[in-house]
Amino acid sequence: MNIEEIRAMFPVLHQEVNGKPLIYFDNAATTQKPQSVLDALTGYYEHDNSNIHRGAHTLADRATRFYEETREGVRDFINAKETAEVIFTKGTTESINLVASSYGRKFITKGDEIIISTLEHHSNIVPWQMLCEEKGAILKVIPINDRGEILFEEFDKMLSDRTKFVSIVHVSNALGTINPVKKIIKLAHQVGAKVLLDGAQSTNHLEIDVQDLDCDFLAFSAHKLYGPTGLGILYGKRSILETMPPYQGGGEMIKEVTFAKTTYNDIPFKFEAGTPNIADVIAFQKALDFISCFGKANIKKHEDELLDHANIAFGQIKGFVPVGTAAEKVSVLSFNIMGMHPFDVGVMLDANGIAVRTGHHCTQPLMQRLGLEGTVRASFSVYNTKKEIDQMAISLSKIAKIKN
Ligand code: PLP
Repeated sequence: MNIEEIRAMFPVLHQEVNGKPLIYFDNAATTQKPQSVLDALTGYYEHDNSNIHRGAHTLADRATRFYEETREGVRDFINAKETAEVIFTKGTTESINLVASSYGRKFITKGDEIIISTLEHHSNIVPWQMLCEEKGAILKVIPINDRGEILFEEFDKMLSDRTKFVSIVHVSNALGTINPVKKIIKLAHQVGAKVLLDGAQSTNHLEIDVQDLDCDFLAFSAHKLYGPTGLGILYGKRSILETMPPYQGGGEMIKEVTFAKTTYNDIPFKFEAGTPNIADVIAFQKALDFISCFGKANIKKHEDELLDHANIAFGQIKGFVPVGTAAEKVSVLSFNIMGMHPFDVGVMLDANGIAVRTGHHCTQPLMQRLGLEGTVRASFSVYNTKKEIDQMAISLSKIAKIKN
């Protein structure tokens, strides 16, 4: 892969911030978008803008075809059996809420147990808490060790015939830990529980094959995959989606409406009420094309090299304390500088044109477990370079010297 050629595809990277060339290391929050995605967005509004699925005219036909082509692109990207198993939502958050609301309301009852882990993003905690409160179900949390890895034996011990659902993050956004999800799914299925994977941070780094994983649901967001914001995906097995009631009511999700009774549309449309995010869905195909053009394995190899390089470069800085040192990780490096608040470190890095994330990363319970208020998080993507990391190491060592 020629990284300079890849960088040339991302207009946003070529700017100065606070008088310094932008170094964008906030990729776990959202990735930048290649020109092809931007062109597809404007192209849709310039040439094809129309509502989909029910138009008798050429533009509506064209927009419908492009929209459905992305559904096929997503199916291929995660190796789902059929396009009907791919539902477009607003994001990972909405995908998880959809399952908690629809599957949860129908199938979870008093005394049932739902398992999540200490590593979860708030969007994979709160919907289950809300469901448990409503139903009188019990939320159980898999503990972790100090490296940020789940204690698998504890998970094993938690499972029983009361376990009805396991909803677990595939890759931690705060620490980068890769969870052993295939093993988790297998054990959960042995007690008859369904499993949802929060793939917000895994789909961009790891090859995902939902049939091989055998997960029941997978939730992820386009904006973390070089695609537009406001678009998410929920994969679900047909046999389960068909048993679930609609999440929202309105146009598109119906077959026939009378004042006496409404019959619902088939999947996936049953779960896509109202006019969807047409432009963003269409543009997302270009993001998927971008990934497949280079290959996830090549992208991951580059990102892993960046992570190794950063660990060595930052590791030499006095006062640098890495947070989350799991054996299996993606290119997310969380850390603190001794004696300094993460936000202050972030602001000082920004003064040098370096964008990182600071704070609790929407994982407050995880931070509580680690005894931290927050961390500084540098997360690397395909368009980042070792030179950028060296630049950050120079800035960081000057910042660290203030207190160390
Ligand atoms: N889950 C994880 C692990 C995440 O990293 C994020 C976003 O940061 C989410 C869920 C929520 O994604 P979204 O805000 O796109 O719905």
